[in-house]
Amino acid sequence: MDVIVIGCGASGIAALRKLHDAGLKVLGLEADDRIGGRIMTVEYGECALDLGAAWCHGEKDNIVFELANPFGLLGKPNPDNKWFVLSNGDLLPEDKCDALLDALNQEIGKADKNNTKSISECVRSAAKSNAILTKEPQLSKYFVEWFERNCHIGGQSDPRKEKSLKGLEECWGCEGEFMLNWKGKGYKMILDVLLNKYPDPAKAIPVQILLKKEVESIKWRTSQPGLEPGNPLVHVKCKDGSLYAAKSVIVTVSIGVLKERHSQLFNPPLPAEKTNAINTLQLCVLDKIYIEFTKSWWPKTPANFTLLWRDEDKAKVSDDEKWITEIFTLFTVEHQPNLLLAWIYGKAAVEMERASLEQVKAGVNKLLGIFMKQFDVTPIKAIVRQWASNPLARGSYSYRSVATEQDGGSAEILSEPLYHGNGFPVVCFAGEATSHHRHSAAHGAVEAGFREADRLIRVLKKN
Ligand SMILES: Cc1cc2nc3c(=O)[nH]c(=O)nc-3n(C[C@H](O)[C@H](O)[C@H](O)COP(=O)(O)OP(=O)(O)OC[C@H]3O[C@@H](n4cnc5c(N)ncnc54)[C@H](O)[C@@H]3O)c2cc1C
Repeated sequence: MDVIVIGCGASGIAALRKLHDAGLKVLGLEADDRIGGRIMTVEYGECALDLGAAWCHGEKDNIVFELANPFGLLGKPNPDNKWFVLSNGDLLPEDKCDALLDALNQEIGKADKNNTKSISECVRSAAKSNAILTKEPQLSKYFVEWFERNCHIGGQSDPRKEKSLKGLEECWGCEGEFMLNWKGKGYKMILDVLLNKYPDPAKAIPVQILLKKEVESIKWRTSQPGLEPGNPLVHVKCKDGSLYAAKSVIVTVSIGVLKERHSQLFNPPLPAEKTNAINTLQLCVLDKIYIEFTKSWWPKTPANFTLLWRDEDKAKVSDDEKWITEIFTLFTVEHQPNLLLAWIYGKAAVEMERASLEQVKAGVNKLLGIFMKQFDVTPIKAIVRQWASNPLARGSYSYRSVATEQDGGSAEILSEPLYHGNGFPVVCFAGEATSHHRHSAAHGAVEAGFREADRLIRVLKKN
Protein backbone atom coordinates (compact mmCIF):
# COMPACT_ATOMS: atom_id res chain seq x y z
CA MET A 1 0.00 0.00 0.00
CA ASP A 2 1.32 3.45 -0.88
CA VAL A 3 -0.94 5.70 1.18
CA ILE A 4 -3.60 5.24 3.86
CA VAL A 5 -5.98 8.14 4.28
CA ILE A 6 -7.38 8.32 7.81
CA GLY A 7 -10.84 9.88 7.91
CA CYS A 8 -13.07 10.15 4.85
CA GLY A 9 -14.68 13.57 5.11
CA ALA A 10 -14.25 16.09 2.29
CA SER A 11 -10.51 16.30 2.83
CA GLY A 12 -9.91 12.56 2.92
CA ILE A 13 -12.06 11.91 -0.14
CA ALA A 14 -10.25 14.67 -2.06
CA ALA A 15 -6.88 13.15 -1.14
CA LEU A 16 -8.02 9.67 -2.17
CA ARG A 17 -9.22 10.92 -5.55
CA LYS A 18 -5.97 12.69 -6.39
CA LEU A 19 -3.74 9.84 -5.21
CA HIS A 20 -5.83 7.33 -7.13
CA ASP A 21 -5.65 9.42 -10.31
CA ALA A 22 -1.85 9.47 -9.96
CA GLY A 23 -1.83 5.66 -10.06
CA LEU A 24 -0.93 5.12 -6.40
CA LYS A 25 -2.30 2.30 -4.25
CA VAL A 26 -4.54 3.93 -1.66
CA LEU A 27 -6.90 2.95 1.13
CA GLY A 28 -9.37 5.08 3.07
CA LEU A 29 -10.13 4.20 6.70
CA GLU A 30 -13.25 5.84 8.11
CA ALA A 31 -14.43 5.38 11.70
CA ASP A 32 -18.08 6.17 11.00
CA ASP A 33 -20.55 4.02 9.07
CA ARG A 34 -20.68 6.62 6.28
CA ILE A 35 -18.29 8.94 4.48
CA GLY A 36 -18.58 12.74 4.56
CA GLY A 37 -17.75 13.65 8.18
CA ARG A 38 -19.01 17.18 8.76
CA ILE A 39 -20.75 17.00 5.39
CA MET A 40 -23.89 15.12 6.27
CA THR A 41 -26.75 15.24 3.81
CA VAL A 42 -29.91 13.32 4.65
CA GLU A 43 -33.02 12.73 2.56
CA TYR A 44 -35.91 14.85 3.81
CA GLY A 45 -39.21 14.95 1.98
CA GLU A 46 -38.61 15.62 -1.69
CA CYS A 47 -35.22 17.22 -1.13
CA ALA A 48 -32.08 16.78 0.87
CA LEU A 49 -31.24 18.42 4.18
CA ASP A 50 -27.73 19.30 5.29
CA LEU A 51 -27.05 18.72 8.96
CA GLY A 52 -23.45 19.87 8.47
CA ALA A 53 -22.00 22.00 5.65
CA ALA A 54 -24.72 23.37 3.38
CA TRP A 55 -23.40 26.29 1.32
CA CYS A 56 -20.48 26.77 -1.02
CA HIS A 57 -18.99 30.00 0.30
CA GLY A 58 -17.80 32.02 -2.69
CA GLU A 59 -16.67 31.44 -6.24
CA LYS A 60 -13.20 32.80 -7.01
CA ASP A 61 -10.36 30.49 -5.93
CA ASN A 62 -12.91 28.15 -4.39
CA ILE A 63 -12.06 24.56 -5.29
CA VAL A 64 -15.57 23.32 -4.50
CA PHE A 65 -17.04 25.92 -6.85
CA GLU A 66 -14.52 24.97 -9.55
CA LEU A 67 -15.40 21.28 -9.24
CA ALA A 68 -19.20 21.60 -8.94
CA ASN A 69 -20.11 24.57 -11.08
CA PRO A 70 -19.30 23.00 -14.47
CA PHE A 71 -22.02 20.40 -13.71
CA GLY A 72 -24.57 23.14 -12.94
CA LEU A 73 -24.89 21.88 -9.37
CA LEU A 74 -24.85 25.24 -7.60
CA GLY A 75 -27.69 27.74 -7.30
CA LYS A 76 -27.76 31.38 -6.21
CA PRO A 77 -30.11 32.35 -3.38
CA ASN A 78 -32.93 34.87 -3.73
CA PRO A 79 -32.43 38.08 -1.73
CA ASP A 80 -33.35 37.70 1.94
CA ASN A 81 -36.29 39.39 3.61
CA LYS A 82 -34.85 40.51 6.93
CA TRP A 83 -36.50 40.99 10.29
CA PHE A 84 -34.76 42.18 13.43
CA VAL A 85 -36.79 41.04 16.43
CA LEU A 86 -36.39 41.90 20.09
CA SER A 87 -37.25 39.38 22.77
CA ASN A 88 -40.36 41.40 23.72
CA GLY A 89 -41.70 40.69 20.22
CA ASP A 90 -40.98 44.18 18.83
CA LEU A 91 -39.77 44.45 15.26
CA LEU A 92 -36.92 46.95 14.87
CA PRO A 93 -36.42 49.25 11.88
CA GLU A 94 -34.13 47.58 9.35
CA ASP A 95 -32.15 50.72 8.47
CA LYS A 96 -31.27 51.40 12.10
CA CYS A 97 -30.14 47.79 12.63
CA ASP A 98 -28.14 47.75 9.40
CA ALA A 99 -26.36 50.93 10.50
CA LEU A 100 -25.36 49.33 13.82
CA LEU A 101 -24.08 46.20 12.08
CA ASP A 102 -22.18 48.27 9.51
CA ALA A 103 -20.55 50.19 12.35
CA LEU A 104 -19.39 46.95 13.99
CA ASN A 105 -18.04 45.60 10.70
CA GLN A 106 -16.24 48.86 9.96
CA GLU A 107 -14.58 48.83 13.38
CA ILE A 108 -13.31 45.31 12.73
CA GLY A 109 -12.20 46.27 9.23
CA LYS A 110 -10.05 49.15 10.43
CA ALA A 111 -8.72 47.48 13.61
CA ASP A 112 -4.99 46.74 13.81
CA LYS A 113 -4.66 42.99 13.22
CA ASN A 114 -1.00 42.72 14.09
CA ASN A 115 -1.47 41.82 17.73
CA THR A 116 -2.90 39.10 19.97
CA LYS A 117 -6.28 40.76 20.56
CA SER A 118 -9.63 39.09 20.01
CA ILE A 119 -12.45 40.20 17.71
CA SER A 120 -14.73 40.26 20.76
CA GLU A 121 -12.45 42.77 22.47
CA CYS A 122 -12.60 44.93 19.37
CA VAL A 123 -16.42 44.95 19.07
CA ARG A 124 -16.98 45.40 22.79
CA SER A 125 -14.72 48.43 22.95
CA ALA A 126 -16.28 49.78 19.73
CA ALA A 127 -19.67 49.75 21.47
CA LYS A 128 -18.19 52.23 23.97
CA SER A 129 -16.46 54.54 21.51
CA ASN A 130 -18.04 54.40 18.04
CA ALA A 131 -20.32 57.40 17.36
CA ILE A 132 -23.15 55.36 15.83
CA LEU A 133 -23.03 52.62 18.46
CA THR A 134 -22.87 54.94 21.46
CA LYS A 135 -26.05 56.69 20.28
CA GLU A 136 -27.97 53.45 20.96
CA PRO A 137 -26.07 51.93 23.92
CA GLN A 138 -28.66 49.34 24.93
CA LEU A 139 -29.38 48.14 21.42
CA SER A 140 -25.67 48.15 20.59
CA LYS A 141 -25.05 45.84 23.55
CA TYR A 142 -27.63 43.37 22.17
CA PHE A 143 -26.05 43.60 18.73
CA VAL A 144 -22.56 42.96 20.09
CA GLU A 145 -23.87 39.84 21.85
CA TRP A 146 -25.61 38.73 18.66
CA PHE A 147 -22.49 39.46 16.61
CA GLU A 148 -20.34 37.32 18.90
CA ARG A 149 -22.64 34.38 18.37
CA ASN A 150 -23.29 34.91 14.67
CA CYS A 151 -19.58 35.19 13.88
CA HIS A 152 -18.78 32.51 16.49
CA ILE A 153 -16.03 34.60 17.98
CA GLY A 154 -16.57 34.42 21.72
CA GLY A 155 -14.43 32.21 23.93
CA GLN A 156 -17.37 32.38 26.37
CA SER A 157 -15.60 31.51 29.61
CA ASP A 158 -11.97 31.64 28.45
CA PRO A 159 -10.64 34.84 26.80
CA ARG A 160 -7.69 32.89 25.35
CA LYS A 161 -10.17 30.86 23.30
CA GLU A 162 -11.72 33.93 21.68
CA LYS A 163 -11.24 34.24 17.92
CA SER A 164 -8.22 36.42 17.17
CA LEU A 165 -8.26 39.57 15.07
CA LYS A 166 -5.13 38.37 13.31
CA GLY A 167 -7.00 35.22 12.27
CA LEU A 168 -9.17 37.42 10.04
CA GLU A 169 -6.14 38.19 7.93
CA GLU A 170 -5.01 34.57 7.85
CA CYS A 171 -8.41 33.30 6.68
CA TRP A 172 -9.20 34.39 3.11
CA GLY A 173 -12.71 34.60 1.78
CA CYS A 174 -13.57 33.76 -1.82
CA GLU A 175 -15.14 36.50 -3.91
CA GLY A 176 -18.58 35.90 -5.40
CA GLU A 177 -21.84 34.62 -3.97
CA PHE A 178 -21.30 33.49 -0.36
CA MET A 179 -24.41 31.32 -0.02
CA LEU A 180 -24.48 29.06 -3.07
CA ASN A 181 -26.88 26.17 -2.51
CA TRP A 182 -26.90 22.69 -4.00
CA LYS A 183 -30.34 23.02 -5.63
CA GLY A 184 -31.95 20.66 -3.12
CA LYS A 185 -29.38 17.88 -3.58
CA GLY A 186 -27.17 18.73 -0.61
CA TYR A 187 -23.45 19.27 -0.03
CA LYS A 188 -22.84 15.53 -0.37
CA MET A 189 -22.81 16.15 -4.14
CA ILE A 190 -19.21 17.30 -3.79
CA LEU A 191 -18.31 13.83 -2.51
CA ASP A 192 -20.02 12.29 -5.55
CA VAL A 193 -18.12 14.64 -7.85
CA LEU A 194 -14.82 13.85 -6.14
CA LEU A 195 -15.46 10.12 -6.35
CA ASN A 196 -16.49 10.55 -10.00
CA LYS A 197 -19.93 9.09 -9.16
CA TYR A 198 -21.61 12.15 -10.64
CA PRO A 199 -23.00 12.44 -13.27
CA ASP A 200 -22.53 8.74 -14.13
CA PRO A 201 -22.40 6.41 -11.06
CA ALA A 202 -21.01 3.65 -13.27
CA LYS A 203 -17.83 5.69 -13.67
CA ALA A 204 -17.10 5.95 -9.93
CA ILE A 205 -13.39 5.49 -9.20
CA PRO A 206 -12.66 2.06 -7.74
CA VAL A 207 -11.00 3.37 -4.60
CA GLN A 208 -11.13 1.22 -1.48
CA ILE A 209 -12.80 2.86 1.51
CA LEU A 210 -13.39 0.81 4.64
CA LEU A 211 -16.12 2.05 6.99
CA LYS A 212 -16.32 1.47 10.76
CA LYS A 213 -12.52 1.47 10.93
CA GLU A 214 -11.69 3.71 13.83
CA VAL A 215 -7.95 4.24 13.86
CA GLU A 216 -6.53 3.83 17.32
CA SER A 217 -2.80 4.09 16.77
CA ILE A 218 -0.39 5.28 14.11
CA LYS A 219 3.08 3.86 14.54
CA TRP A 220 5.59 5.83 12.52
CA ARG A 221 9.36 5.88 12.48
CA THR A 222 11.59 8.89 12.52
CA SER A 223 14.47 6.80 11.19
CA GLN A 224 15.42 3.24 10.46
CA PRO A 225 18.77 2.58 8.82
CA GLY A 226 18.67 0.81 5.48
CA LEU A 227 14.92 1.10 5.06
CA GLU A 228 14.18 1.26 1.32
CA PRO A 229 11.33 3.32 -0.03
CA GLY A 230 8.61 0.74 -0.63
CA ASN A 231 8.89 -0.80 2.80
CA PRO A 232 6.00 0.27 4.96
CA LEU A 233 7.07 3.04 7.24
CA VAL A 234 3.75 3.45 9.01
CA HIS A 235 1.62 0.88 10.79
CA VAL A 236 -1.99 1.67 11.59
CA LYS A 237 -4.11 -0.19 14.12
CA CYS A 238 -7.89 0.08 14.27
CA LYS A 239 -10.17 -0.34 17.25
CA ASP A 240 -11.40 -3.69 15.88
CA GLY A 241 -7.82 -5.01 15.99
CA SER A 242 -7.21 -4.84 12.24
CA LEU A 243 -3.74 -3.72 11.09
CA TYR A 244 -2.69 -1.86 7.97
CA ALA A 245 0.68 -0.67 6.71
CA ALA A 246 1.71 1.87 4.10
CA LYS A 247 4.59 4.05 3.00
CA SER A 248 2.74 7.09 4.26
CA VAL A 249 -0.55 8.14 5.87
CA ILE A 250 -2.62 11.30 5.60
CA VAL A 251 -4.46 12.12 8.82
CA THR A 252 -7.61 14.18 8.17
CA VAL A 253 -9.45 13.98 11.51
CA SER A 254 -10.75 17.25 12.97
CA ILE A 255 -8.70 19.46 15.29
CA GLY A 256 -11.20 18.48 18.01
CA VAL A 257 -10.36 14.81 17.56
CA LEU A 258 -6.63 15.62 17.51
CA LYS A 259 -6.95 17.60 20.74
CA GLU A 260 -8.64 14.69 22.46
CA ARG A 261 -6.61 11.83 21.06
CA HIS A 262 -3.23 12.85 19.70
CA SER A 263 -1.33 11.46 22.68
CA GLN A 264 -2.82 7.99 22.18
CA LEU A 265 -2.91 8.12 18.37
CA PHE A 266 0.75 8.79 17.57
CA ASN A 267 3.67 6.60 18.45
CA PRO A 268 6.23 8.15 18.82
CA PRO A 269 4.36 11.20 20.13
CA LEU A 270 3.99 14.36 18.09
CA PRO A 271 6.70 17.01 18.36
CA ALA A 272 6.05 19.90 20.76
CA GLU A 273 5.50 22.44 17.96
CA LYS A 274 2.70 20.35 16.55
CA THR A 275 0.98 19.78 19.90
CA ASN A 276 1.19 23.50 20.58
CA ALA A 277 -0.67 24.18 17.31
CA ILE A 278 -3.26 21.51 18.22
CA ASN A 279 -3.76 22.97 21.69
CA THR A 280 -4.10 26.58 20.64
CA LEU A 281 -6.17 26.32 17.46
CA GLN A 282 -9.82 25.95 18.45
CA LEU A 283 -12.92 24.23 17.15
CA CYS A 284 -16.08 26.19 17.76
CA VAL A 285 -19.41 24.50 18.32
CA LEU A 286 -22.16 25.70 16.07
CA ASP A 287 -25.23 23.54 15.77
CA LYS A 288 -28.24 23.68 13.52
CA ILE A 289 -31.76 22.95 14.67
CA TYR A 290 -34.16 22.43 11.80
CA ILE A 291 -37.73 23.15 12.83
CA GLU A 292 -40.61 21.77 10.84
CA PHE A 293 -44.07 23.40 10.76
CA THR A 294 -47.30 22.16 9.20
CA LYS A 295 -47.10 25.17 6.89
CA SER A 296 -45.01 28.29 6.53
CA TRP A 297 -46.17 31.24 8.68
CA TRP A 298 -43.53 33.86 7.87
CA PRO A 299 -44.76 36.72 5.69
CA LYS A 300 -42.23 36.30 2.87
CA THR A 301 -39.69 33.71 1.70
CA PRO A 302 -36.70 33.66 1.98
CA ALA A 303 -36.90 34.95 5.53
CA ASN A 304 -34.08 35.78 7.89
CA PHE A 305 -34.83 36.61 11.54
CA THR A 306 -32.14 38.18 13.71
CA LEU A 307 -33.02 37.44 17.34
CA LEU A 308 -31.91 40.03 19.89
CA TRP A 309 -32.23 39.06 23.53
CA ARG A 310 -32.95 41.69 26.17
CA ASP A 311 -31.37 40.97 29.56
CA GLU A 312 -34.72 41.01 31.38
CA ASP A 313 -36.25 38.43 28.99
CA LYS A 314 -33.17 36.21 29.24
CA ALA A 315 -33.46 36.30 33.03
CA LYS A 316 -37.01 34.89 32.85
CA VAL A 317 -35.92 31.69 31.11
CA SER A 318 -35.41 28.78 33.52
CA ASP A 319 -31.93 27.29 33.91
CA ASP A 320 -32.80 24.03 32.20
CA GLU A 321 -33.90 25.94 29.09
CA LYS A 322 -31.28 28.70 29.24
CA TRP A 323 -29.71 27.30 26.08
CA ILE A 324 -32.51 28.82 24.00
CA THR A 325 -31.15 32.28 24.85
CA GLU A 326 -28.15 31.48 22.66
CA ILE A 327 -30.23 30.82 19.54
CA PHE A 328 -29.40 33.90 17.54
CA THR A 329 -30.83 33.50 14.04
CA LEU A 330 -33.66 31.75 12.26
CA PHE A 331 -33.86 31.41 8.52
CA THR A 332 -35.76 29.63 5.83
CA VAL A 333 -34.23 26.69 3.98
CA GLU A 334 -34.04 26.47 0.20
CA HIS A 335 -36.28 23.75 -1.26
CA GLN A 336 -37.86 23.00 2.15
CA PRO A 337 -40.95 25.26 2.29
CA ASN A 338 -42.05 24.32 5.83
CA LEU A 339 -38.69 24.40 7.58
CA LEU A 340 -36.82 27.03 9.51
CA LEU A 341 -33.20 26.68 10.51
CA ALA A 342 -32.18 27.88 13.98
CA TRP A 343 -28.48 28.42 14.77
CA ILE A 344 -27.07 27.92 18.24
CA TYR A 345 -23.53 28.61 19.36
CA GLY A 346 -20.99 27.50 21.94
CA LYS A 347 -21.66 26.17 25.43
CA ALA A 348 -25.40 26.48 24.93
CA ALA A 349 -25.17 24.24 21.86
CA VAL A 350 -23.41 21.64 24.01
CA GLU A 351 -26.23 21.93 26.56
CA MET A 352 -28.86 21.64 23.86
CA GLU A 353 -27.16 18.46 22.63
CA ARG A 354 -27.81 16.88 26.05
CA ALA A 355 -31.56 17.48 25.75
CA SER A 356 -33.96 15.00 24.14
CA LEU A 357 -35.58 15.89 20.83
CA GLU A 358 -38.87 16.50 22.67
CA GLN A 359 -37.10 18.92 25.03
CA VAL A 360 -35.47 20.68 22.08
CA LYS A 361 -38.87 21.02 20.42
CA ALA A 362 -40.34 22.41 23.67
CA GLY A 363 -37.43 24.87 23.99
CA VAL A 364 -37.84 26.03 20.41
CA ASN A 365 -41.57 26.44 21.02
CA LYS A 366 -40.80 28.68 23.99
CA LEU A 367 -38.33 30.71 21.88
CA LEU A 368 -40.96 31.22 19.17
CA GLY A 369 -43.50 32.25 21.83
CA ILE A 370 -41.06 34.88 23.12
CA PHE A 371 -40.03 36.37 19.77
CA MET A 372 -42.90 35.67 17.39
CA LYS A 373 -45.74 37.00 19.50
CA GLN A 374 -47.52 38.32 16.43
CA PHE A 375 -47.73 34.85 14.86
CA ASP A 376 -49.48 31.68 15.94
CA VAL A 377 -46.78 29.06 15.44
CA THR A 378 -46.18 25.57 16.77
CA PRO A 379 -43.33 23.41 15.56
CA ILE A 380 -44.13 19.81 14.78
CA LYS A 381 -40.60 18.51 14.74
CA ALA A 382 -37.02 19.40 15.63
CA ILE A 383 -34.11 17.84 13.76
CA VAL A 384 -30.62 18.13 15.21
CA ARG A 385 -27.18 16.69 14.64
CA GLN A 386 -24.95 16.82 17.70
CA TRP A 387 -21.54 17.97 16.51
CA ALA A 388 -19.85 18.64 19.87
CA SER A 389 -20.82 15.35 21.49
CA ASN A 390 -19.89 13.41 18.36
CA PRO A 391 -16.49 11.87 19.25
CA LEU A 392 -15.56 11.80 15.56
CA ALA A 393 -15.95 15.58 15.19
CA ARG A 394 -16.07 17.36 18.60
CA GLY A 395 -17.23 20.58 16.99
CA SER A 396 -17.94 22.47 13.80
CA TYR A 397 -15.33 24.92 12.50
CA SER A 398 -11.68 25.55 13.43
CA TYR A 399 -10.35 29.02 14.11
CA ARG A 400 -7.26 30.88 15.31
CA SER A 401 -7.64 31.97 18.90
CA VAL A 402 -5.91 34.54 21.08
CA ALA A 403 -3.87 31.60 22.45
CA THR A 404 -2.76 30.73 18.89
CA GLU A 405 -1.33 34.22 18.50
CA GLN A 406 0.18 34.33 21.99
CA ASP A 407 1.80 30.89 21.83
CA GLY A 408 2.74 30.81 18.15
CA GLY A 409 0.58 28.07 16.61
CA SER A 410 -0.78 28.09 13.05
CA ALA A 411 -2.45 26.03 10.36
CA GLU A 412 0.91 25.93 8.58
CA ILE A 413 2.56 24.25 11.58
CA LEU A 414 -0.37 21.84 11.87
CA SER A 415 0.01 20.93 8.19
CA GLU A 416 3.74 20.17 8.43
CA PRO A 417 4.36 16.41 7.86
CA LEU A 418 6.33 14.15 10.14
CA TYR A 419 9.42 13.06 8.24
CA HIS A 420 11.47 9.91 8.12
CA GLY A 421 15.19 10.57 8.60
CA ASN A 422 15.78 10.72 4.82
CA GLY A 423 13.23 13.52 4.41
CA PHE A 424 10.35 11.27 3.39
CA PRO A 425 6.93 12.51 4.67
CA VAL A 426 5.57 9.51 6.56
CA VAL A 427 2.66 11.18 8.34
CA CYS A 428 0.91 14.01 6.53
CA PHE A 429 -1.88 16.20 7.90
CA ALA A 430 -4.90 17.43 5.97
CA GLY A 431 -8.43 18.45 7.04
CA GLU A 432 -9.93 21.93 7.14
CA ALA A 433 -7.93 23.09 10.16
CA THR A 434 -4.67 22.59 8.23
CA SER A 435 -5.79 24.79 5.34
CA HIS A 436 -3.45 27.78 5.47
CA HIS A 437 -5.96 30.38 4.34
CA ARG A 438 -9.33 28.70 3.99
CA HIS A 439 -9.70 26.85 7.29
CA SER A 440 -13.16 26.26 8.67
CA ALA A 441 -14.83 25.77 5.29
CA ALA A 442 -15.42 22.61 3.26
CA HIS A 443 -13.53 24.08 0.30
CA GLY A 444 -10.51 24.51 2.63
CA ALA A 445 -10.85 20.82 3.53
CA VAL A 446 -10.82 19.76 -0.14
CA GLU A 447 -7.89 22.06 -0.89
CA ALA A 448 -5.93 20.60 2.04
CA GLY A 449 -6.64 17.03 0.88
CA PHE A 450 -5.34 17.88 -2.60
CA ARG A 451 -2.30 19.64 -1.10
CA GLU A 452 -1.18 16.57 0.86
CA ALA A 453 -1.94 14.20 -2.03
CA ASP A 454 0.26 16.36 -4.27
CA ARG A 455 3.04 16.29 -1.70
CA LEU A 456 3.03 12.49 -1.65
CA ILE A 457 2.65 12.15 -5.40
CA ARG A 458 5.80 14.25 -5.81
CA VAL A 459 7.90 11.99 -3.57
CA LEU A 460 6.33 8.62 -4.34
CA LYS A 461 6.39 9.07 -8.10
CA LYS A 462 10.07 10.10 -7.92
CA ASN A 463 11.12 6.88 -6.19
C1 LIG B 1 -23.17 22.54 11.39
C2 LIG B 1 -22.06 22.81 10.41
C3 LIG B 1 -22.30 23.66 9.35
C4 LIG B 1 -21.30 23.91 8.43
N1 LIG B 1 -21.59 24.70 7.34
C5 LIG B 1 -20.66 24.86 6.37
C6 LIG B 1 -21.02 25.49 5.14
O1 LIG B 1 -22.17 25.86 4.92
N2 LIG B 1 -20.04 25.65 4.20
C7 LIG B 1 -18.75 25.21 4.40
O2 LIG B 1 -17.90 25.39 3.52
N3 LIG B 1 -18.41 24.56 5.55
C8 LIG B 1 -19.33 24.36 6.52
N4 LIG B 1 -19.02 23.65 7.65
C9 LIG B 1 -17.62 23.19 7.83
C10 LIG B 1 -17.35 21.94 6.97
O3 LIG B 1 -18.35 21.00 7.20
C11 LIG B 1 -16.00 21.38 7.35
O4 LIG B 1 -15.00 22.39 7.21
C12 LIG B 1 -15.56 20.22 6.45
O5 LIG B 1 -16.63 19.36 6.15
C13 LIG B 1 -14.45 19.48 7.15
O6 LIG B 1 -14.00 18.40 6.38
P1 LIG B 1 -12.75 17.54 6.87
O7 LIG B 1 -12.59 16.44 5.91
O8 LIG B 1 -11.61 18.43 7.13
O9 LIG B 1 -13.17 16.99 8.32
P2 LIG B 1 -14.34 16.00 8.73
O10 LIG B 1 -15.52 16.23 7.87
O11 LIG B 1 -14.50 16.15 10.19
O12 LIG B 1 -13.75 14.58 8.35
C14 LIG B 1 -12.93 13.84 9.22
C15 LIG B 1 -13.35 12.39 9.14
O13 LIG B 1 -12.50 11.64 10.02
C16 LIG B 1 -13.29 10.63 10.63
N5 LIG B 1 -12.57 10.19 11.85
C17 LIG B 1 -12.49 10.83 13.04
N6 LIG B 1 -11.72 10.11 13.89
C18 LIG B 1 -11.31 9.00 13.22
C19 LIG B 1 -10.49 7.89 13.55
N7 LIG B 1 -9.92 7.76 14.76
N8 LIG B 1 -10.28 6.93 12.61
C20 LIG B 1 -10.82 7.04 11.38
N9 LIG B 1 -11.62 8.08 11.00
C21 LIG B 1 -11.85 9.05 11.92
C22 LIG B 1 -14.61 11.31 10.89
O14 LIG B 1 -15.65 10.39 11.09
C23 LIG B 1 -14.78 12.13 9.61
O15 LIG B 1 -15.47 11.41 8.62
C24 LIG B 1 -20.01 23.34 8.58
C25 LIG B 1 -19.78 22.48 9.66
C26 LIG B 1 -20.79 22.19 10.56
C27 LIG B 1 -20.54 21.21 11.65
